[in-house]
Amino acid sequence: MTSQSKSIGALSFLDLRLDELNEEFGDLPELEKDKHRELVNAKSLVEETDGVLKEIQHFVSVANVTLIELKDKEEKLTQQQFLVRNNKEFDALSHEIDNLKKEHTELSSKLKSEGIKEENLSQLLDEQKENVKKLEVELTILKNNIEELAGEQKQIVRDLRLTKEKIEAKINIANLKEYNRIRVNHNDTAVTIKRNCCSGCFNSVPPQRIVEIRNNENKIFLCEHCGRILLPDNMEIDENLVDEILH
Ligand SMILES: [Zn+2]
Repeated sequence: MTSQSKSIGALSFLDLRLDELNEEFGDLPELEKDKHRELVNAKSLVEETDGVLKEIQHFVSVANVTLIELKDKEEKLTQQQFLVRNNKEFDALSHEIDNLKKEHTELSSKLKSEGIKEENLSQLLDEQKENVKKLEVELTILKNNIEELAGEQKQIVRDLRLTKEKIEAKINIANLKEYNRIRVNHNDTAVTIKRNCCSGCFNSVPPQRIVEIRNNENKIFLCEHCGRILLPDNMEIDENLVDEILH
């Protein structure tokens, strides 16, 4: 019969590896979701800026035409002033011309400030579009990583599970039940004694116990403080332990 303590050590090692793999993969889908959300926000910013920019551009093109029209009207009225026959008519035209000039000045200055706004917004829009492109690339990389890792991990997890089954077959049912019961509370279900202490909770193990554990490879001993399975101090819980049992 294979040593129970060695088999339990190997099983604990495999379970921890499987936990690690699950954790490693666990964050990725969340990261992808975050990146996707970021991209949606970035795209809506582009849309918003683009909308405002188009409004301004429309205003600018209309205003440019209006300015020409105002100048034309002003000129026509100035011509008419030469043809008037009395002061009253002249003053009325002067008043109209003044109004046109005022309107022209106001529109010109608004056009200038909108022009500056347009310039700033165009720059902002370029930056926002760049950001969208950057996020799209990042999202693609993330998606590829997830796919790649999922493929690789599937194979590794499958192999580890197969190995685990082989190891489990070497552990007697009562011990396996005990192991699974303890694993509910402790991921590192079985731990070695290190420097006379349980390496799970670091409480000391009586010397008598340490000797007992070393000499009874087929009996399960629990740490009286944390309840983990205690394995002899001369054992290393690693890949080699698995190999040793299976070969
Ligand atoms: Zn302990």
